[in-house]
Amino acid sequence: MTSAASKPETRIQGIGVSPGISWGLVEILSTALEEPEEASIERSEVESEINRLSLALVATREQISELQKEIISEDAENSAAIFDAHLLLLEDATVLKEVQKITESELKTIDWAYFSVVKRYIDSLRKIADPYLRERAVDIEDVAKRVLGNLRRTTHGAVPGQLNAQTNIVLSHDLTPSDTVSMDRSKVRGFATEAGSQTSHTAIMARSLNIAAVVAIHKIPEGCSTGDTAIVDGHHGLVILNPSPETLADYKALAEKEKLVVSGLDNIKDAPTETSDGVTITLSANIEFLQELSSVADQGAEGIGLYRTEFFYLSNQELRSEENQTANYREVAEATAPHGVIIRTLDIGGDKMCPELYTVPEPNPFLGWRGIRLSLDRPADFRIQLRSILKASAVGKVRVMFPFISTLEEVQRSKQHLEAAKTELRDQGIPFDEEIEVGAMIEIPSAVMIADHIAREVDFLSIGTNDLIQYTTAVDRVNDRVAGLYQPTHPAVIALIRETVEAAHRNNIWCGICGEAASDLRMTPIWVGLGVDELSVGSAQLLKIRHAISKLDSESCGKLVEELRAHGTAGEIERHCINFAKEFYPEFLI
Ligand code: PEP
Ligand code: MG
Repeated sequence: MTSAASKPETRIQGIGVSPGISWGLVEILSTALEEPEEASIERSEVESEINRLSLALVATREQISELQKEIISEDAENSAAIFDAHLLLLEDATVLKEVQKITESELKTIDWAYFSVVKRYIDSLRKIADPYLRERAVDIEDVAKRVLGNLRRTTHGAVPGQLNAQTNIVLSHDLTPSDTVSMDRSKVRGFATEAGSQTSHTAIMARSLNIAAVVAIHKIPEGCSTGDTAIVDGHHGLVILNPSPETLADYKALAEKEKLVVSGLDNIKDAPTETSDGVTITLSANIEFLQELSSVADQGAEGIGLYRTEFFYLSNQELRSEENQTANYREVAEATAPHGVIIRTLDIGGDKMCPELYTVPEPNPFLGWRGIRLSLDRPADFRIQLRSILKASAVGKVRVMFPFISTLEEVQRSKQHLEAAKTELRDQGIPFDEEIEVGAMIEIPSAVMIADHIAREVDFLSIGTNDLIQYTTAVDRVNDRVAGLYQPTHPAVIALIRETVEAAHRNNIWCGICGEAASDLRMTPIWVGLGVDELSVGSAQLLKIRHAISKLDSESCGKLVEELRAHGTAGEIERHCINFAKEFYPEFLI
């Protein structure tokens, strides 16, 4: 075997899903679902086998609840919600009935029966094109590994026990959410997986836990083995195996610098967000779950610029009632005073599927029944959401925003529903903000082309760059095969954003950006130069963006955006922006 020291440095490009730099000894994990032996039992043993399963389910429930508590105490509560879904899967009555039936009628051990049933579910989910449903296969596998481990009276699912004492970097085909949470964070500093995408649960977990992570590296190289050294560069989506002493020294210096810079940002938590020449920009945060509210406030956000309501809606049917939605929105409204919250109506569809709503399979979910289309087709449920949002507007500053707008009629019809909901509340004597502001998301090129018309109907526009990039360049945002073509700095994307901001300003309304590009420090000068009024970003990036804006001046940024018109490729624009930004905040552009 070649020793780690003699192996050449190898760079593998993936997708960075959790920023940060870490290095150390590699552990390659095999996380496959192990098939138990297909063994038969006597009829007299059936009852004790079924009891064994009940005990294993109890033990699994306890383990999942423990993990959930642990992750909540680590201030990563949004990720804890994933384990609610695991608890539901664990107790899925259809699965458990099928398992019991196999043991009773075929006289097979409960381990085998359980394995064969869940394996069938996992295999059929994996064949589905929809990425959200494919991701559910990972959840079922995660739960199944624990149950089978408990049936064997071992704690099979716990990764930490399997790690070497000195493991720092975990490499694996894929990691389940509980693999990720179970990692001993005193050892594991980073991980990289062959599979995965920005929206996978593992990516969400890594960001919550602040572990540098890269996904979609496709293949761990043949010669790579446990005990090698590696660097995970979550900023650039890079894994460097067997780094040379020079590379390692460079990365250590970068990490040191990053630590210093981040610790220096605490003093701007309460500062306004303004350029060096006094142009103010509202810097708000994006959230998916209420549990994020405290960390958002800690980071000095000026309110919530995007509350993606579909996540809680999809997580639990009980939460969909008007009473529960109202309580949920009120909590956000109260917590974000005096700044307030932009509540986006449901954006189900695309990669956020809701199986009970999609009785007919979607051949092309990202171009299908999604966002406002679904709300307008389900008026009763739309009305419940609008009434709940309006009721919350009585206790704090609430704005409402419609997603996935492709036509003017959609905006007009949505507003009619809002007006009808207002009339109902008025008639019932229920208080709400009569002046509630209404916004439209601009994330489809057709909406950009009619932005003047849309702007005349609403109080603000918010640009969803995640989708605008996907629909402008025809690149599926969750397909890692074409990830290289997903280019935030594509000149067409910049031109569409420019057009949207100008249309908003021509019509005297404000315009924000709430897609991931708002958090991209390379692009901050463009947003300043275009005169964007609001940026809504992931809370981890918030202070860096505020710092970057404070270093920039609007005049030079204005010149920059004019210069960018000369470029025809994303690469040229990216390089130009990086060079420009490096003059103002080199410390963040690593
Ligand atoms: C976007 O498309 O940029 C956006 C903010 O919405 P989502 O990511 O939820 O589609
Ligand atoms: Mg979107």
